[in-house]
Amino acid sequence: MKLYDQNISIDEFHWQLGLLQTLDVGLIVLDHEFNIQLWNSFMVNHSGISDSKVRNKSLFDTFPELPATWLKRKLNSVFLLNNRAFITWEERPYLFRFKSYRPITGRADFMYQNITLIPLASPSGKVEHLGILIYDMTDAAISRLDLQQANAELSQLSRTDRLTKLNNRGYWEECVKHEFERYVRTQVPSSLVMLDIDHFKPINDTMGHLAGDEVIRKLASEISHHARATDIAGRYGGEEFGILLVNTPAANAEVFAERLRAAVEGLDIRYDNQRIDITVSIGIAEVDNLQDDYHRWIEQTDQALYFSKEHGRNLVTVFSNIPDK
Ligand code: GH3
Ligand code: MG
Ligand code: MG
Repeated sequence: MKLYDQNISIDEFHWQLGLLQTLDVGLIVLDHEFNIQLWNSFMVNHSGISDSKVRNKSLFDTFPELPATWLKRKLNSVFLLNNRAFITWEERPYLFRFKSYRPITGRADFMYQNITLIPLASPSGKVEHLGILIYDMTDAAISRLDLQQANAELSQLSRTDRLTKLNNRGYWEECVKHEFERYVRTQVPSSLVMLDIDHFKPINDTMGHLAGDEVIRKLASEISHHARATDIAGRYGGEEFGILLVNTPAANAEVFAERLRAAVEGLDIRYDNQRIDITVSIGIAEVDNLQDDYHRWIEQTDQALYFSKEHGRNLVTVFSNIPDK
């Protein structure tokens, strides 16, 4: 259709008006002073304002809610450069806040719009008018937004451990890797804390796997309770957990770990009206420049954890304090 041409004479444009009135697209024609010269039926129907009310009135006086500074800059550059301009709903969801009447889009509060600004040349070739085309993009926008939400939920699911709702091992390790890389740049130390339930097998063996699961869940929620918002907790293995304490040197991590160890010792876990007492062994390692990569950081934390296991369990060990490591 002629409308998509770079320059359309305003005279030619008028005979097309009949067609344009029936299109499911909004059309406004403005003069140089932003006075409305044409306001098609789409605009009438959606704004509830008749053609005669707006004709020869300033667009910005009639619609003070429009983003005037921004839109004037866009319109002026179309006049000046004699170039079309496009504004997508992703950039700005709408220009005119119209209600959305699309049946499948019951959730949309407004009509999403794509906007095209077209220079309209007079027969002399001078651009004296400008057309604003408004396309209803609500259906496309809603299905795109739905897809984005589904993807976000999916990626949330793929990084969450089902039993504990903590981060799963893959995602947690990814966070440790990032933190290691950050340390290399900033030299601000962080610590890793890893813990494993002591003598967990007998709980499973005597009370059943479901009792074991309940213990794992309770411990996970205790870990979340003690962690700060910036700490990142994950389920590393069956009954082994990792907590990344960002911007925390080992001495502070030790205070955190000791508090957690004591809290776990005092936890009142019940399954089938039976109390299950547990303790945890904990290892800590601070990131340092001698570690080749984040694997080595995790390995040192694990070594500290197994030192706790070997030295009586229900214990906190900092890697740097292990003699002859
Ligand atoms: P230790 O003090 O040396 O840690 O002794 P432990 O018995 O806890 O030994 P270990 O840490 O090796 O035990 C891991 C056990 O955890 C083995 C496995 O049957 C159990 N386990 C792993 N994942 C799950 C799970 O999701 N649910 C349950 N109920 N048990 C699990
Ligand atoms: Mg264990
Ligand atoms: Mg274990």
